[in-house]
Amino acid sequence: MWDGVLVMEVERLARGDTIDQGIVAQTFKYSDTMIITPIKDYKPNDEFDEEYFEFGLFMSRREYKTINRRLQRGRLASVKEGKYVASRPPYGYERVRIEHDKGFTLRPVGDEADIVRFIFQLYTTGEKQEGGSYHKLGMGAIAKRLNEMHIPAPNGASHWQDGTVRVILKNPTYLGKVRWKTNKTQKKVVDGRVKKERVPSSADERVLTNGIHPPLIDESVFLLAQDIMSSKGSVSIQERKTIANPLAGVLTCGLCGRTMARHPVPGGAILYCPNNICRSVSSKYDIVEARLLQGISDWLKDYRLMWETAQSDDITSAVEIKEKAIAKAKHDISTLEKQLARTHDLLEQGVYTTETFLERSRSISARIEQAKSDIASLVSEIEVDRIREESKKTIIPKAERLLDVYASLPSAEDKNKLLKEVLEKAVYVKEKRSPRGSAGDNFELTLYPKLPYSSDK
Ligand SMILES: [Zn+2]
Repeated sequence: MWDGVLVMEVERLARGDTIDQGIVAQTFKYSDTMIITPIKDYKPNDEFDEEYFEFGLFMSRREYKTINRRLQRGRLASVKEGKYVASRPPYGYERVRIEHDKGFTLRPVGDEADIVRFIFQLYTTGEKQEGGSYHKLGMGAIAKRLNEMHIPAPNGASHWQDGTVRVILKNPTYLGKVRWKTNKTQKKVVDGRVKKERVPSSADERVLTNGIHPPLIDESVFLLAQDIMSSKGSVSIQERKTIANPLAGVLTCGLCGRTMARHPVPGGAILYCPNNICRSVSSKYDIVEARLLQGISDWLKDYRLMWETAQSDDITSAVEIKEKAIAKAKHDISTLEKQLARTHDLLEQGVYTTETFLERSRSISARIEQAKSDIASLVSEIEVDRIREESKKTIIPKAERLLDVYASLPSAEDKNKLLKEVLEKAVYVKEKRSPRGSAGDNFELTLYPKLPYSSDK
């Protein structure tokens, strides 16, 4: 598509590793695209230019690697000196320049540091009860307490969550340590594609040393918190996600909009809104799932009926009308273009003054533009009609298949996949607890089947 690429220097086109670079160089070569810089123009199919180009890219990658290595080595040295090298300070601290030396360290921020201590206290010792005994709080309860106290959440988040509390309880910075390379980015080939993922570094890569910043928490308290965490078998959100939920990403909370989560309990599972400031009340998983399937079945019955009676006549005729409108607009444009040409003639013949000419030609041009934009929007409307038509035909068999096989599918992942083919989303609303002994089905469930967006259906 392009004749050339304009860059300040050819090194700007250097990317990634040797293979990536080969792809860049070949793309220029095979598409015969020029590289134009203020100093020199490169024709990729000229042998000398090609060599010069590849060499330039090679050098710039080497240079980048050297700089990066030097930077990493410098950072590691700083960490070993107990300096804080990350760009963002953890909650409870601010990042300050070290006096008479290079680099940064951390300084406690009064109020926030107190909250950190408070969190550790609630988690390890707990709150004093009326009888004088202590009651320890879990991460969710701590988050809830902080929200009730209107303590601003870290990083400008709207509220505290159990995950926020967990990150704080696990961070050795509060112990006066500095850490480096806890996680690293790893490249992996999945289904023939390179994927990047963050994984924990191996023990010998990880660095944890004494920092020069003051600790907020005693070592005994910090270690106690770690013990409680491992005894509870607390799992991170990442780990929890792999525990299967067939409704994952399908069911949302109608009160706050968050995706509903599933939590296994003895003898089943419950569905709850993970937002701890939401009023939403949880339900038994099985009851919600059964209602959802019933909902799909009811909807399918109605939809099939509507589909059989209405047929596709209405849509076909809508498309026809729009196609006629396009043909008319095209005809209008050619007429207007002729008129526009005539205004030029009239100007040349002296019939029109310059003023009249400008006025006439502008108004004609505006009408041409209008007709063109009408055509564009009609074309996209027809496209939407066609997609809608098509998916009406496909969603019925999809929903039928779902109802047939759902119960017999072995994995939550398969169930989830099928649900997502049929449902855009489902919204769950429950504001009151179920009365004791009731079926526990006092919630509302609204289904949004996957149909192309339209106002009428
Ligand atoms: Zn909610």
